[in-house]
Amino acid sequence: MNKKGHVALGVAIGSAALVSPYLNPYVSSGSSWQAICSSVLYLAAVAAASLAPDLDHKTSTASNLLQLSSSKRKGAWMLGWLLLIAGLILFLLPQVGYALPEKATACAPFLLGTGILAFSLSKLRSLLLLAGGAGLLTAYMLYDWPWIAAFAGVALCLMPVIQHRGLIHTPEFAIALSAGLWTFAQGEAWWVQAICAGAVIGWWAHLAGDLFGREGIHSFLLPKVKVALHLFDNGGLVERTIARSCWLVSITMWLLYIVATCTSTQIVPGARAILELY
Ligand SMILES: [Zn+2]
Repeated sequence: MNKKGHVALGVAIGSAALVSPYLNPYVSSGSSWQAICSSVLYLAAVAAASLAPDLDHKTSTASNLLQLSSSKRKGAWMLGWLLLIAGLILFLLPQVGYALPEKATACAPFLLGTGILAFSLSKLRSLLLLAGGAGLLTAYMLYDWPWIAAFAGVALCLMPVIQHRGLIHTPEFAIALSAGLWTFAQGEAWWVQAICAGAVIGWWAHLAGDLFGREGIHSFLLPKVKVALHLFDNGGLVERTIARSCWLVSITMWLLYIVATCTSTQIVPGARAILELY
């Protein structure tokens, strides 16, 4: 599935879960405003998590949010090489006895520094993933953050080097991530619980979407166990039709969410708050 298909499927599954008796009290609790914010945060987390597993793909929508465009990356890479070579030449020539004007040698550190900066910009995605992973690991070790922080930190550090639809797309990774987020959310603030619930559902919805294509997903512990339904090609007519159907399902669920407030004795706080606005 491409990004539109993943988001449509994720939001449809997330919306269906929102009106279910299992998740609704979990997300739509507390005051009316809190319930509205909680539901919105939950659905935003579902949409974001429905794209997040493709961070393991170098040019996916999720990855492109963390890096420059392809042409700018190439430009920064070329510029980085030119600046580094120029800086090295200006630095090394005086070392081998070739005298240069003082101003020229003074430029060497500047050229080397800007060259490294240009290289860094061309690898911005990898740097941000590593920085995020290192931050989470540091928080786990120094500030006693829960184990899910270390788990996510290691995953982010591995992301630049692992293959697409490898470890990050396995059900075992999803089970560990879900268990970690779920246990972390217990006893946390309402908005943390809403985001964690949305992240878990969005992540699984992404894996469900990947099952439809040719590549499918495979097990981490049993790599030969793979499920690929071969139902349609990425971005094709079938996928676009499924995506539109998913949005219809989502809209239906949102309507149910509001109608439930008028017909049920157990009024959904979030929908009641929306109605109270009018
Ligand atoms: Zn995927």
